[in-house]
Amino acid sequence: MSRSKQSEKILIFSAPSGAGKSTIVQHLMKTYPYLGFSISATSRAPRGEEQNGREYYFLTPAEFQDRIKNGELIEYQEVYKGFYYGTLRSEVERICFEGKIAVFDIDVKGGINLKKLYGERALSIFIMPPNVEALRERLRLRGTETEESIERRVSKATEEIGYASEFDLTLINDNLESCLKEAEMVVESFYNQ
Ligand code: ADP
Ligand code: 5GP
Repeated sequence: MSRSKQSEKILIFSAPSGAGKSTIVQHLMKTYPYLGFSISATSRAPRGEEQNGREYYFLTPAEFQDRIKNGELIEYQEVYKGFYYGTLRSEVERICFEGKIAVFDIDVKGGINLKKLYGERALSIFIMPPNVEALRERLRLRGTETEESIERRVSKATEEIGYASEFDLTLINDNLESCLKEAEMVVESFYNQ
């Protein structure tokens, strides 16, 4: 497949927090060198081992607002009250220039907006948890969130699940291994089409 052909395509992954989206996206990034991860900007603080320029570009709230004013974001959302996340135009350009398929780990509303922007060039995938209680359990086991942050994330989940039908595909992440296999099939078929 030619470089220009791949550079027209994007893969969007959205899910309620704790559904396993980052686990799945990270697995795909390691497996397929023709994918390029779009590193978002965020005004939240780094957690755990996260590094600036690897998982996110960590900005102060004022820096984030400047990026919005300067038109540097192709989409952004206040995903949790006071915490902004957005897609940098420069990231999408960088990945396209490398001739790769851009991969987005993005909230549900952002995912729907990107799909509208890219149309047929985008494949949007919703990662569905087996149930809401599993989200709470997984977030607790991940050990990166306070109880307050867990409840904020879980309470958004029901609304987010209501948007699943607006995505091209839904993958249920109950058994991780089989979900990873399904995700691989989806990526390979998108790459080859
Ligand atoms: P998200 O990016 O959607 O918030 P993560 O990928 O960080 O979610 O996953 C949340 C936690 O759940 C992590 O600790 C991860 O290892 C775990 N996890 C992911 N998928 C499964 C699964 N199918 N079964 C059990 N635990 C899972
Ligand atoms: P977290 O704080 O767990 O890293 O991310 C919280 C949520 O923000 C996740 O659903 C994640 O996908 C989403 N997110 C990350 N980057 C972006 C982005 O660039 N735009 C939007 N709209 N959401 C994002």
